[in-house]
Amino acid sequence: RAVTLLRLESDLRRAIENHELCVYYQPIVSVEDRRLHGFEALVRWHHPERGIVLPTDFISLAEETGLILPLGLIVLREACYQLRRWQQRSLSDSDLIISVNLSGKQLTQPDLIERIEEILHESQLKPWHLKLEVTESVVMENPELAAATLGRLRGLGVRLSIDDFGTGYSSLSYLNRFPLDILKIDRSFISTMNQTEENLQIVKTIVTLAGNLGMQVIAEGVETEEQLNQLQLLKCQYAQGYLFSEPMDAAQADLFVLNRVNSS
Ligand code: C2E
Ligand code: MG
Ligand code: MG
Repeated sequence: RAVTLLRLESDLRRAIENHELCVYYQPIVSVEDRRLHGFEALVRWHHPERGIVLPTDFISLAEETGLILPLGLIVLREACYQLRRWQQRSLSDSDLIISVNLSGKQLTQPDLIERIEEILHESQLKPWHLKLEVTESVVMENPELAAATLGRLRGLGVRLSIDDFGTGYSSLSYLNRFPLDILKIDRSFISTMNQTEENLQIVKTIVTLAGNLGMQVIAEGVETEEQLNQLQLLKCQYAQGYLFSEPMDAAQADLFVLNRVNSS
C-alpha cells in the first residue's frame, strides 16, 4: 500500500508539472425552466497509462501531500478563464456562474485570498460570478479559521456554497456563523426522495431551511424527471445531475452553452 501511495504521489507531482490535470464542467440549471445557471468545475486527471482518473482516486492523497494547493489553483484559474470566455462570447451569457470546490487544506493556505484575488483580476471575472464550495466537515474541522477565511472571501465579493449538505455534521448552528450564500443538498437525499414520504419531507425541510436563512438551494445528483418534478413542487431553485448532463470537457461544455443560448 505504501509503495502504491508513493508511486501515486510522484505520478501526481509529475501530472501537475506536465499539465495532465484538466477541468470538466457539469451544468447547474434552474428547476423552474431548465435555463442554464452555470457550471461546477470538477478536476480530471488524464493519466498517460491509466486514462481518465476521477478525483475520488487522488484528492485525498493530494490533501495529505499538500499537492492540493497547486492543484486547487490550477483548477480555479482554468475555470475562471473558461467562464470569462463564455461570458465574452455572448451578452446573454454574462450571468453564468462557475462553482469551484475548495478543500480544507486550501482554507489554511496563508496566501489563499491574495491568490484568488490575483486570478479574478487576471481573468477579469467579477467576483460574484465565482462560487466556492466547502463541505460541512471542512468548516467544522477548524471553525475559527474557517470563519475568518470565509469572511475574507465573502469580503472579496465571492459567493460561498456549503457542499454535500446533510452528510457531514449534525449541528445546524454553523449555518448562521458562516457567511454562506448557497446550500447544496447532498445526492443521497435526492436519490431516495421518491422512495419514502420521510425522505421527501427531509428534502422539503432542507429547501425551507435554506429559504428561511436567505440562502439559494441546489439539488445535487438529479437523475430522473420524477425527481425534477418533485423539486419543482418543493420550489427548489437549482438542480445539477446526470438528467441534464454528466461533467464534460471544455469543448463539449462549449457546445452546451451554445445550444442553450440559441434555444432560449
Ligand atoms: P462534489 O463537489 O460533491 O461533486 C459532485 C460529484 O457528483 C461529481 O463527482 C459529479 O460527477 C457527481 N455527480 C453529479 N451528478 C450526478 C448524478 O446525477 N449521479 C451521480 N451518481 N453522480 C453525480 P466527481 O467529479 O467524481 O467528484 C467527486 C468529488 O471530488 C467532488 O464532489 C469534490 O468533493 C471532489 N472534487 C472534484 N474536483 C475537485 C477540485 O478541483 N478540488 C477539490 N478540492 N475537490 C474536488
Ligand atoms: Mg462540489
Ligand atoms: Mg457535492
